[in-house]
Amino acid sequence: CHCLALLRLGPSVMQGAIANLRPGAEQKVVFITARVHPGETPSSFVCQGIIDFLVSHHPIAKVLRDHLVFKIAPMLNPDGVYLGNYRCSLLGFDLNRHWANPSPWAHPTLHGVKELIIDMYNNPKINLEFYIDIHAHSTMMNGFMYGNIFEDEERFQRQAVFPKLLCQNAEDFSYSSTSFNRDAVKAGTGRRFLGGLLNDTSYCYTLEVSFYSYILAAAAPAVPYTEEACILLKSILLQHTWTGHLR
Ligand SMILES: [Zn+2]
Repeated sequence: CHCLALLRLGPSVMQGAIANLRPGAEQKVVFITARVHPGETPSSFVCQGIIDFLVSHHPIAKVLRDHLVFKIAPMLNPDGVYLGNYRCSLLGFDLNRHWANPSPWAHPTLHGVKELIIDMYNNPKINLEFYIDIHAHSTMMNGFMYGNIFEDEERFQRQAVFPKLLCQNAEDFSYSSTSFNRDAVKAGTGRRFLGGLLNDTSYCYTLEVSFYSYILAAAAPAVPYTEEACILLKSILLQHTWTGHLR
């Protein structure tokens, strides 16, 4: 499947980073997916910004490469993107509703990525710390997240830390627009499914970025997102946030 091929490219680009990890140490993995909804092009800009930053000479990028392994599937729905679909795959599926039981025939990219994540989950030398699925939102402003609700209050509070850090680091990120839910209609999403599967040291989020603009305060004028000025910058700030998480 295309996604698995792309995922194999990730570690080859990151070889230097992997070599920096202590031999035998548990790998802390950040798994990022994007563009499961093909019409959400800003998702790709954010993902591109993350990749560009991670392979850069920026000192923070080096710290992140020294401590974390990033696995990135930048396009979960390549057929839909190729065809110009807004939300569906070639066969008309919303792939972000089929994480529970993806078919290797009908949802091959999703099936491949899920198999890889489950293999990592079952590997005692890997701790999958973050799963982040990048989307774009057609009606909301700013960047924000969706997270999961857990019975365990302490786990729930820990999960709120990452979006709070993002809100401190990125001017366009809104914690007040961030919400935590367990709606039945979202049960087949990556964030919900993996949040239910992975252990309590894993954090699963949907990262949303507005299609058009962000506001800094209620009465402030909207600032349009552009690829260069805002979306890529936000990705860099996302990296700073991970550094905060490492401390
Ligand atoms: Zn979406």
